[in-house]
Amino acid sequence: MTADAGLPRRKFWGWGLEGEAATREERDRLLSALCLELGVSELQAVPPPRVEEFSLPAPRLRAPATLAPILTDDPRQRLVHAYGKSLPDSVRMFRRHAPAPPDLVAFPRDESDVAALLEWLDGESAAAIPFGGGSSVCGGVEPAVGEAYAAAVSVDLERLDRVLEVDAASLAARIQAGTRGPALEAQLKEHGLTLRHFPQSFEHSTLGGWIATRSGGHFATLATHIDDLVESLRAVTPSGVLETRRLPASGAGPSPERLLLGSEGTLGVITEAWMRVRRRPRFRAGASVRFAGFSRGADAVRALAQSELYPANCRLIDAEEAEAAGAGGGGALLVLGFESADHPLEPWLQRALEIVRDFGGSIAGGSGGSSAEAGGGRSGQSSSSERSTREDAAGAWRRAFLRAPYFRELLTPRGVISDTFETAVTWSGFETLYQGVLERMDRAFREITGRPGRLTCRFTHVYPDGPAPYFSFRVHSTLDAMLEQWREIKAAANEAVVSLGGTITHHHAVGRDHRPGWEQERSPLFGEALRAAKAALDPHGILNPGVLIEPSDRSVGVTGALAP
Ligand SMILES: Cc1cc2nc3c(=O)[nH]c(=O)nc-3n(C[C@H](O)[C@H](O)[C@H](O)COP(=O)(O)OP(=O)(O)OC[C@H]3O[C@@H](n4cnc5c(N)ncnc54)[C@H](O)[C@@H]3O)c2cc1C
Repeated sequence: MTADAGLPRRKFWGWGLEGEAATREERDRLLSALCLELGVSELQAVPPPRVEEFSLPAPRLRAPATLAPILTDDPRQRLVHAYGKSLPDSVRMFRRHAPAPPDLVAFPRDESDVAALLEWLDGESAAAIPFGGGSSVCGGVEPAVGEAYAAAVSVDLERLDRVLEVDAASLAARIQAGTRGPALEAQLKEHGLTLRHFPQSFEHSTLGGWIATRSGGHFATLATHIDDLVESLRAVTPSGVLETRRLPASGAGPSPERLLLGSEGTLGVITEAWMRVRRRPRFRAGASVRFAGFSRGADAVRALAQSELYPANCRLIDAEEAEAAGAGGGGALLVLGFESADHPLEPWLQRALEIVRDFGGSIAGGSGGSSAEAGGGRSGQSSSSERSTREDAAGAWRRAFLRAPYFRELLTPRGVISDTFETAVTWSGFETLYQGVLERMDRAFREITGRPGRLTCRFTHVYPDGPAPYFSFRVHSTLDAMLEQWREIKAAANEAVVSLGGTITHHHAVGRDHRPGWEQERSPLFGEALRAAKAALDPHGILNPGVLIEPSDRSVGVTGALAP
């Protein structure tokens, strides 16, 4: 296969496609803030890496003639597939360090290619790493399989990118796993439908990746994860094809979809799924609400989450994060929104505003009630109501949220550790977790880097029984020291969320980086049951070894960003 073969050129060292970056204005604003924090007038940065600056090991596998049309050993493609998009991935790219890229990258054209690939790799004792958009932030796509495997091959599903069928009567669509967010929505739009699953990584992540990681999307309540949108799916495993039956619901034993949901490429390569879709929303109503403090805002959000109003958007953002996003104005900010394809939403919004006022919330903007409109906004297709509220606090925060992924490539080469971690906890445990995380991370930043850090929090999703707090932090370091310091900070964060009663991840998945925390959180017996399921579907443990669980027949150990 020739290099790139007309595929869009993804940046191998940063977010998005080549040529996409922060604007000059965004860059100037961010760099001024960093200089101010450090009390310096300028910050030196290393330039982005070039392919020729890496010394990649020679591929250990040769493509057989039958599979040669879908395999490449092109160095740029090997680098694109060497890492995901986490902070340690970015640091290793800027350090020009990629000692374990995939030996080859495969671009299967259809399901039979996937089956042939797995059969070949099984016979070669080589690892297969399923790859969607490569937006993993927890070491999920890194082919760091150690010496236990003869080679590693990334299986990139980007050619499986179509909506194959729409069942309008059942509001469901059959969609290939490699379809990225914008292509998926564009194809559904032709039918007046939408999946309305919008993770922040929407532009550069895929349906298969969302299912494999149980991603969290746009809805702050009800269908928060992709889980409930999956009607049925198909996956190719080394033991054969596993297909589940299209049903609106079933009480027949443990759910087979649930086995594959969150399997992170360790049990099979998901090739397509029937997804529950919906009519595009026509009515929206929303408001921005301010609270004196985050905890007071949390009390109001708990009341909202337990009110059965189920807002589509209910993001509580602490004062510092709102300020940094250009949505400051004193106090915590709640971005509240309702949407429907069927009915106006005034009564819902008015009742929600009564609730937040009971907790001292003051309405800061955008409470103009429902608007009827065609279409929904994302990725450059902003809707009329979104345009009209563009300048209010919610609009400013949303814009900053969508641009944020481009900032890492400004921060890493200047030695700034900027990362996030997220969890979910019951309401009864929230305050202990929140205060505990603030205290422990403040101590960790000072002890590990010798400097204070900046830690902010927001709720991404809320449930009647608890919120999903999402923490963002920034602390100054150097390009030489930051990977080692990040490892210690990550260990402190993992330990804090799990020991304070939260989960190791609400939606970022387990991968390699959260495996120690997940092992602490899950029952050992469940780990055994999962290993048994893997043994049935993947008897030689070739699928994404080292992610989620250690394969039972060989040791991968600690690999990837956590390995010293
Ligand atoms: C800037 C940024 C913002 C993000 N925002 C969110 C967010 O809002 N919500 C959220 O949930 N996550 C978010 N993430 C994390 C990431 O985008 C999600 O985990 C996403 O679901 C990964 O999809 P992907 O297609 O990129 O999968 P990849 O990163 O390619 O793969 C992720 C995992 O799934 C496996 N996999 C991928 N495709 C398949 C398949 N077809 N079959 C079997 N296994 C497969 C891989 O082996 C790997 O273990 C964000 C990441 C970044 C960098």
